Amino acid sequence: MADRPILRRVLLKLSGEAFSDPAVRGGIDPVIVRQVAREIAELTATDGTQVGVVVGGGNIFRGNSPAATGMDRSSADHMGMLATVINALALQDALEKAGVETRVQTAIAMQELAEPYIRRRAVRHLEKGRVVIFAAGLGAPYFTTDTTAAQRALEIGAEAILKGTQVDGVYDRDPKQDAAAKRYDEIDFLSVLNQGLKVMDATAISLCMDNDLPIVVFELLREGNIGRVVRGEDVGTLVRPLAPAPTAG
Ligand code: UDP
Repeated sequence: MADRPILRRVLLKLSGEAFSDPAVRGGIDPVIVRQVAREIAELTATDGTQVGVVVGGGNIFRGNSPAATGMDRSSADHMGMLATVINALALQDALEKAGVETRVQTAIAMQELAEPYIRRRAVRHLEKGRVVIFAAGLGAPYFTTDTTAAQRALEIGAEAILKGTQVDGVYDRDPKQDAAAKRYDEIDFLSVLNQGLKVMDATAISLCMDNDLPIVVFELLREGNIGRVVRGEDVGTLVRPLAPAPTAG
């Protein structure tokens, strides 16, 4: 397996579930948010890594969930986007308590509580060592925060998306259902799409594939894991472009 590079600028994707106790499901667990914040704080302080974060909202509301049955999809998605802002503010608070300067930028203007998303400004914050949390998705319905993560990662020039999950990588089957499921150390984008593996949605994977943006899928709540990924250690699953075909001769 090829050596993984040390990463200097990353986009961390946190699903809404990352904010809640898996045993409870839903809501925000302050202990978990503090743990995630501590890990990010360590990263910026020790490694000097520049960190952008895209937060999901699934712990509160999703536009395609049963709770939205009968609703106009666009309105439901607006609710989902607002849910991500709640998570963003919780994470900002925890990060600042951990001593990290943080800015929240939203794709839907709400200037009383966050900056609007302005790419150049976001990059400037990162250069100054501030963590930037991107909230309210892309500001458009029918998208997900996975696609937002790919889009923002490309815009800020992140070297990879770090997708923190509850399992330790990408498996060929659901490891919770089937103990014989096999974990991939590495896999290419096309295989993820062809095999319908649950990494990120197809729009997000396509965007990463078209722009050669790698994704590392790893277990978020194992202590020190975010740092391991950033230092290029062999953690989780690396989703990457197909290796170039060997040349003849
Ligand atoms: N959403 C949206 N447009 C976006 C991003 C998100 O409409 O660009 C809405 C959508 O309803 C989605 C919800 O926000 O279900 C929460 O985002 P997501 O489901 O991606 O959160 P996660 O699964 O990461 O917790």
